[in-house]
Amino acid sequence: MKFYSLNHQSPEVSFDEAVISGIAPDKGLYFPKEIKPLPYSFFDKIELLSNKEIAFTAIHQFVSETIPDSKLNAILDEVLDFDFPIVEIEENIVALELFHGPTMAFKDVGARFMANCLGYFSEGNNEEVTVLVATSGDTGGAVANGFLGVKGVKVVILYPSGKVSEIQEKQLTTLGKNITALEVDGTFDDCQRMVKRAFLDNEITKHKKLTSANSINVARWLPQLLYFLFAFKQVKAKGRDIVFSIPSGNFGNVCAGMVAQKLGMPVKHFIAATNVNDTVPQFMKTGEYQPKPSTATISNAMDVGDPSNFIRIRELYENDFSKLKENFSSYSFDDVTTKATMTKIYNKTRYVTDPHGAVGYLGLQHYQKHNPNTFGVFLETAHPVKFLDVVEETLNISPSIPEQIKKVMGKTKIALKISSYDGLKSHLLQS
Ligand SMILES: *Cc1c(COP(=O)(O)O)cnc(C)c1O
Repeated sequence: MKFYSLNHQSPEVSFDEAVISGIAPDKGLYFPKEIKPLPYSFFDKIELLSNKEIAFTAIHQFVSETIPDSKLNAILDEVLDFDFPIVEIEENIVALELFHGPTMAFKDVGARFMANCLGYFSEGNNEEVTVLVATSGDTGGAVANGFLGVKGVKVVILYPSGKVSEIQEKQLTTLGKNITALEVDGTFDDCQRMVKRAFLDNEITKHKKLTSANSINVARWLPQLLYFLFAFKQVKAKGRDIVFSIPSGNFGNVCAGMVAQKLGMPVKHFIAATNVNDTVPQFMKTGEYQPKPSTATISNAMDVGDPSNFIRIRELYENDFSKLKENFSSYSFDDVTTKATMTKIYNKTRYVTDPHGAVGYLGLQHYQKHNPNTFGVFLETAHPVKFLDVVEETLNISPSIPEQIKKVMGKTKIALKISSYDGLKSHLLQS
C-alpha cells in the first residue's frame, strides 16, 4: 500500500517512509492510496475473533509492504495488552473505555504502535531519528511512555507551562533516558508553531532526521481504527443502527473510525463532539472552513482551533459536502454544560466521566433526540483522574488513584524551560 500527500505535490511513498518523515515534503498529510473493504464474513463473525486477530486483519493492508507478518503480530501483542471495555450508561448508550493503557488515554494505542514501527524501521539504520511533538496534555505522556527506551529514537516534547494537569506533566517529565521535556513559556499553539518551524528549518534538518508523533503521522493515526472494531464486536448483538460519538480536537480519532467504516464496519453515523473550539461544527453548518485561535477549556486535549486531520475526513468523502453531511455531524458544548452533564451522569448512574467523555456523551444525546432508534457508543478517551481537579470540584468526590498514576506522582520533574523558538533550535542543534 502506498501513501500519497494530500497536497499532491510529492511522490507516493511506502508506509515506512510516511512514518519516518511524518509529513510529506510538500507539507501535505499522508493518506492511504486505497482502502480495500474486508470481506462481509469478517464483520458477520467478528465475535468469534480475538482483538489481536481483528487488529491484524484490519491493519495488514496498510503496513504489510514494510512490516513482515511475524513482526506485525509481535507489535500488536505489545500495543494491545490491555482491555477496551464497553460500559452501559443508559438503555441505548454505552461508553467505550479507552483508558486502560499505561498513561490512561486512548493515545496509548497510536503512540505505542508508532514507537514500535519506528523502532523496527530504525534497526540497522545508523541515523538517529528525533521525534518532535507538541502536546496540550495527553499526547506528551503517551508518546513519552511509548518511545521510552526505543533504540535509535530520541523524543523531544514541548508543552505549555502551567497549562497541563499535574498528572499529565509528571507523565511527560519524569521518564528520562531518550525522552526530553521542554517547558514552553506560552500556549499550546506556540508549542505547535515552534515544532512546525523546526520541521522547515534547514539548519536543523541538515543535521537531524526529524519526525512528528502527532496524529498527522500515519502510524499514530491509523491504528486508532482498531478499537472501533473492538467496540463493534461488543455491541453488534444489540441489533440496532450503531452510531459513534467521538470527543474531538484534532479529529484524528473520529477520522480513524471512519476508516473502519470504509473497511466495511456497519455504522449509521459518526458524531464529533467538541468543546467551544467549534471550527468543525461551524463548518458543518456553513460549509466554510474558518480556523481560529484556540480557547482554553476544561477538556484541554480538545482545545484546537485548526484541526489538522479534518482534511483527511474531507478526502474520505471525496470533498463532497453533502456526502459528508449524510454520515457525519458535529456539535459544540461549553464547559458549563459539560460539568452539568458530568454531574447528571454521576447522580443517575454513579459513573464518573472525564470532561472529554462528557462532551462525547452530549454529542450522542443531541443526535439521539432526532434519531431515537439508534444504539450509541461514546468514547471515554481518558481516565477521569487525569483531570482530577475538574472531577473533584464538579462531582465533590475524591476518586481513588490508579497504580499507573501513583507511580509517576512520586517522581521528580525534569524539564528544560524555553521561551522562544531559539531555545528549541539550540537544544536540537546541541543534543
Ligand atoms: C487527544 C484527545 C482527544 C482528541 O482527539 P483527536 O484525535 O485529536 O480528535 C480527546 N480526548 C482526550 C482525552 C485526548 O487526549
